[in-house]
Amino acid sequence: MRQRTGIGYDLHPLVAGRRLVLGGVEIPYERGLLGHSDADALCHAITDALLGAAGLGDIGQHFPDTDPQYKDARSLNLLRRAVKMVWREKMGVVNVDATVIAEEPLLTPYLPKMRAAIAEVLGVEPDRVNLKATRSEGLGPLGAKQAVAALAVLTLDESSG
Ligand code: MG
Repeated sequence: MRQRTGIGYDLHPLVAGRRLVLGGVEIPYERGLLGHSDADALCHAITDALLGAAGLGDIGQHFPDTDPQYKDARSLNLLRRAVKMVWREKMGVVNVDATVIAEEPLLTPYLPKMRAAIAEVLGVEPDRVNLKATRSEGLGPLGAKQAVAALAVLTLDESSG
């Protein structure tokens, strides 16, 4: 069994007049993430970790933010498309671990729903998707609630695709 691991990172500004979508789940909050798609930083970080592990580049190469077809796209569906690319390469997801850094809102109540949504898309059991939420302790743009960031590490198995 050969395994490969990839890393992903993403950040989007928090602005008024946008929905807050993380891990494919809409979260009630006074502001949302700004981006060409739904700006789901968690899905973007996981997609980059997935593509990285597979040696398939990054999310911007496959789903450019200059392409009108991805305007307001649901990033969970972009992740789904990336998973299909990986399956075509005869690889499957072993596990993913991700951290969302958001000063507000409190994400803990939404983590189980995000976990279930991401696991379904990755074709794994929810126990293979570990999600964590943390704060930036008031420091920097994340601490000032100007942005939300996400980090992900994902491992693929070359024999389980
Ligand atoms: Mg992004």
